Amino acid sequence: MLTVDEALDRVLAAAEPLAVEEVPFREALGRALCRDIVAGEDLPPFDRSAMDGYAVRVADGTAGAVLEVVGEVPAGRPGNVPVGSGQAVRIMTGAPIPPGADAVQMVELTEALDGGRRVRLVRPVAEGENIRRRGEDLRQGTVVLCAGSPIRSTETALLASLGIVHVPVRRAPRVALLSTGDEIVEPERSPLSHQIRNSNAYAIETILRDLGLPSEYLGIAADSREALAGSIRRGLRSDMLCLTGGVSVGGYDLVAEALRGEGVEIIFHRVAVKPGKPLLVGRRERTLVFGLPGNPLSSVCDFALFAVPALRKMLGWADPRHQEVAGILEGEVRQKPGREWYCLARAVWRDGAYRVEPVPSMGSADIVAACKANCFAVVPAETALLPAGSSVRLLLWGKGF
Ligand code: AMP
Ligand code: MG
Repeated sequence: MLTVDEALDRVLAAAEPLAVEEVPFREALGRALCRDIVAGEDLPPFDRSAMDGYAVRVADGTAGAVLEVVGEVPAGRPGNVPVGSGQAVRIMTGAPIPPGADAVQMVELTEALDGGRRVRLVRPVAEGENIRRRGEDLRQGTVVLCAGSPIRSTETALLASLGIVHVPVRRAPRVALLSTGDEIVEPERSPLSHQIRNSNAYAIETILRDLGLPSEYLGIAADSREALAGSIRRGLRSDMLCLTGGVSVGGYDLVAEALRGEGVEIIFHRVAVKPGKPLLVGRRERTLVFGLPGNPLSSVCDFALFAVPALRKMLGWADPRHQEVAGILEGEVRQKPGREWYCLARAVWRDGAYRVEPVPSMGSADIVAACKANCFAVVPAETALLPAGSSVRLLLWGKGF
């Protein structure tokens, strides 16, 4: 059986970045740039004040100096009030530095005299103090954002600052979701005594929404070859098809066979992961197929561990894998060795580290326990016991989890 790392390598090898498109920068959240972005301008674009205060000549900037206030430059006005020797100009944060001035003394270190016609400097001011120089943050012509870096709010702000209002990114993948199982009914229905409400489709749909990706829900297919085949054919029109249920070894687990029947090449079936061992991954042409186990925690864990990185690769992210952090276990965890265990846990930051409390769970259907967790603590496959106080790998839940 493949390890988690081996399985993820195969998934990422099978996922290909989608076609390039230009989108308005405000619609690029979560997408990755498909080429480097070069600054067409300096940032800041002009020398400007970092403080409310007085623009002065540094030669006059001695403690106790009394200067004549010859004008005022608020932000949003041109700074064309020259500062001569023995003079000061009242200036606001963000306003351009007037000609002649080479320092700004913050207003808190001054005293206004004669109703504001003169000002006394309480402390000396140094050359360049409180001046943000043109190009200090960024010089025109430098690469500011690299191909493959995802757009977050910070990148959006930078693009806005530089006036880059269209960006080249990869097309967003279209994901089709299909639930399977004769026992599954939609949440609005009152289940009969032998039926279970569908939760998987909605958990996965929510993760996708969090990633800013649309999904197409194909409903529930019965455990029959005909029902599965019809829905699979529809799903294969998307960039990714995710099915839940029917990939285990039960007599009615027909998904693998139905996928093969529709021309899907199986890349692997089963991974040494807990929860989520029955995972099946396949591909037909450019459509990736995830056959996720039916148990709610298994389906979400597999989707987050394998399908989300695949989606990021399709989106062109240079680094599509999840970022882990380290934590310290507050209670011990024990397992039967053999599979890498994504143990439900609750992490809080205390005394300079994540303190990790394992969340007791009844198993891979226990969504009640999952609601008490905020991360997975990753227990290596070969480890039977991690005692309290051990360092542990953590996958904090956030986007994509
Ligand atoms: P399966 O993978 O089809 O063997 O299903 C494993 C378990 O997950 C069974 O108890 C199913 O009833 C349950 N299950 C399957 N699909 C769903 C679903 N969409 N929502 C909630 N539970 C499900
Ligand atoms: Mg089933």
